Amino acid sequence: MDLIKLANALIPDENVKPLSYYEERYPERSLEKGAEVTRLAPSPTGFMHLGNLYVALANERIAHQSGGVFYLRIEDTDEKRKVEGAVEVIHSSLKYFGVAFDEGADLCGEYGPYYQRQRAEVYHAYAKELIKKGLAYPCFCGEEELEKTREYQTENKLLPGYYGEFAKCRNLTEEEIYENLKAGKPYVIRLKSQGDVEKKHPFRDAVKGEITVTENNQDVVILKSDGIPTYHFAHAIDDHFMRTTLVIRGEEWLSSLPIHIELFNVLGFKLPRYGHNCSIQKIDGDTRRKLSKRKDPEASLTFYREQGYLPEAVRTYMMTLLNSNFEEWLLKFPDKPLDEFKYSIGKMGKSGALFDILKLNDISKNCMAKLSEKEMYEFLKTWADEYGTDEQKTYFKNEEYLLKVLTLCMGIGGKKRRKDFICAKQAVEMIGYFFDASFSPEYSYRFDSEIVKKILGDFKAVYTYADDCSAWFDKMKGVAAENGFATDMKAYKANPENYPGNVSDVAEMLRVATTGLSNTPDLWTIMQILGEERTLARLNKALSFLS
Ligand code: GLU
Repeated sequence: MDLIKLANALIPDENVKPLSYYEERYPERSLEKGAEVTRLAPSPTGFMHLGNLYVALANERIAHQSGGVFYLRIEDTDEKRKVEGAVEVIHSSLKYFGVAFDEGADLCGEYGPYYQRQRAEVYHAYAKELIKKGLAYPCFCGEEELEKTREYQTENKLLPGYYGEFAKCRNLTEEEIYENLKAGKPYVIRLKSQGDVEKKHPFRDAVKGEITVTENNQDVVILKSDGIPTYHFAHAIDDHFMRTTLVIRGEEWLSSLPIHIELFNVLGFKLPRYGHNCSIQKIDGDTRRKLSKRKDPEASLTFYREQGYLPEAVRTYMMTLLNSNFEEWLLKFPDKPLDEFKYSIGKMGKSGALFDILKLNDISKNCMAKLSEKEMYEFLKTWADEYGTDEQKTYFKNEEYLLKVLTLCMGIGGKKRRKDFICAKQAVEMIGYFFDASFSPEYSYRFDSEIVKKILGDFKAVYTYADDCSAWFDKMKGVAAENGFATDMKAYKANPENYPGNVSDVAEMLRVATTGLSNTPDLWTIMQILGEERTLARLNKALSFLS
């Protein structure tokens, strides 16, 4: 068969440049020895999975720690999955978590374009080269024929796919090919695989270590009928010409590795190092399963923004999943910037990473507790502007007032920082009782309403805004004593049956009446922040619910 003629008929010379052009256009990068070039190569589906951040962080750390380059490539070869505005979503969601690219889609860079759809020419040039060498061929099989093959393979328990005897178009004669072309039959270009599934080779995966890879024997599609490459083909060409040295990607791609190894081989390119990152899993009842886009809201990166998790907290948590020695480092250096941690590929998990939101919340509480009240104000305000209710947005009108609330609720100035805040949504909800617009309490007391009514009334009668904390406390003790409640805890503990309760029960009644909650920071300070008028109004409101 005249392969040159066939290659020219399928991909005319005017559509491509000589291969040497591309090697010159995308030269080796001049980087220090050991510098890694890594990338994130998402499809623009509009959905950013936690796994995307996970892989992005690993690649980002490795590149930047080694003085290399981390770039963004958009793998938009699948038109069906493409969503408008998806690239903005990729940029904005990763930027939120502090993941910065050095070059790539919508950024500058010498190795672009970084959208695969804009790189058709280079893919065509190499597809043509493979046809010329007899390593690729046109396939005219329609969906129906392929379906029949699939059914036959399933029935006979054979490996699925287009290979060996099932690769019908592999053996078409020259006449048959030209007849099909003349008849205008649509076709794809397939790799003419040289592999043998009986052959296995040792392979060093950067994350998983020594593994065994079986040779590929599938005649995979490299160019689809519209001339758009498949992911397999495009990524091999792009990783070569963007001079990627290390590919850290999800382990779902491990099964495609044989195809990729063969493609790099036939293309004459040096294989980059590959590392397959374990997937993020969660415990679901008695089973452990992959975090699912459909079932788990926390699988989506938008979840963390909607909830208002501090980016630092999510990043820190991700690092605990990514590197097994990170937590130890964090304990030793809780205040060091995360980027000072020495990331190592060798410490990446080899099997599933277990996602645990309670642990994230714990880390998050610690990160939140490190903010100043002013930083917290800004963080909550930014969150509320985007995700808060109209009521919550009004909390930020009086900055001075809110700063007082935050100082109290964060325990600033106290012996120990309070660690009540997990994320912005929960924090803003938690401080809602300081704002009348959001104050709709469900009073729940542990004493009869007659007693509560009496205590609230008595306290109201003696309450003075100007009292300092100890005068205020003395008054509360007085109210307790008048109503038979113990004020001496020792005496109470010795004979609790002699009293209806003690002074802390009285404080709780006042707390519930003032805030609607039985657990809050210091009540005297709360009343100081609310002010006299509002405190009295709250007591009156609580009383009105009791009569
Ligand atoms: N486009 C692939 C994806 O959406 C990227 C796989 C890779 O990193 O090679 O996950």
